[in-house]
Amino acid sequence: MKKQITALALAAMMAAASLAGCSSKPAETSAPETEAQTEAEQTKAEEAEAAEAENEETEAEAEQSENKGVLVMATNAEFPPYEFHDGGEIVGIDVEIAAAIAAEMGMDFEVEDIAFDSIIPEVQSGKADFGAAGMTVTEDRKQSVDFSDSYATATQVIIIKEDNADIVSPDDLEGKTIGVQLGTTGDIYASDIADATIEQYNKGFEAVQALTQNKIDAVIIDGEPAKVFVAENEGLKILDEAFTTEEYAICVEKGNTELLEGINAAIASLKESGELQKIVDKYITAE
Ligand code: GLN
Repeated sequence: MKKQITALALAAMMAAASLAGCSSKPAETSAPETEAQTEAEQTKAEEAEAAEAENEETEAEAEQSENKGVLVMATNAEFPPYEFHDGGEIVGIDVEIAAAIAAEMGMDFEVEDIAFDSIIPEVQSGKADFGAAGMTVTEDRKQSVDFSDSYATATQVIIIKEDNADIVSPDDLEGKTIGVQLGTTGDIYASDIADATIEQYNKGFEAVQALTQNKIDAVIIDGEPAKVFVAENEGLKILDEAFTTEEYAICVEKGNTELLEGINAAIASLKESGELQKIVDKYITAE
């Protein structure tokens, strides 16, 4: 719709520009140049320039619409089972949900693997169409992006060494050294813990590694990746009491209602058909 309007406006502008061109011709040949004429010519030149600029814009837009067949998903593929590397591929729950969304919208999709705290800027700038990264909906993030309906309920949990008798509940984190993944909700909530020292890592598993090496006392991280990291590393455990409960959703550029509606429709139909649960079950084995 927007494109059509732009094309019409452009056609009208070009018609106006060529009309202006025609009417000034006879004057040019029959009389010496007057100030008014010079002005008219200047306007003409300006109009031509404007039309050309508009033309370039249209070309850029045309290029963009060729790309419209591809949805770019920004993620941080260090977050199993939602997104992670498997051989040369990026797979996981979010990737499969995104594939289903793209299919529903009749589009291809591409995964862009970037730092977690770059996802929102990437979506805001339009370089990526949406962010799907086990991303928790927060009031703060809602200022920068729009969120889809939630597709998963998640928790932030605390990982400690198995033999740590000192930390038995979230309250015991006061004054401790806590590892988090930079820019995540774990990072945000950890900053509220009294007298705690927060160590920020780029990847969740780096925080877990630091814990196994006794560099930190605990890690605050999302429940599902926590299970994966604890299973992969000896001597770690997850505290029974979760730190928070939160909702995951997909983010899009503010005001991109067309895409948001497409995503919400896809999520709804994936829920309804049981496909979403199937995807989850493929990656998360019930306890
Ligand atoms: N759910 C957390 C957040 O939104 C962590 C997400 C992640 O690390 N991919 O901040």
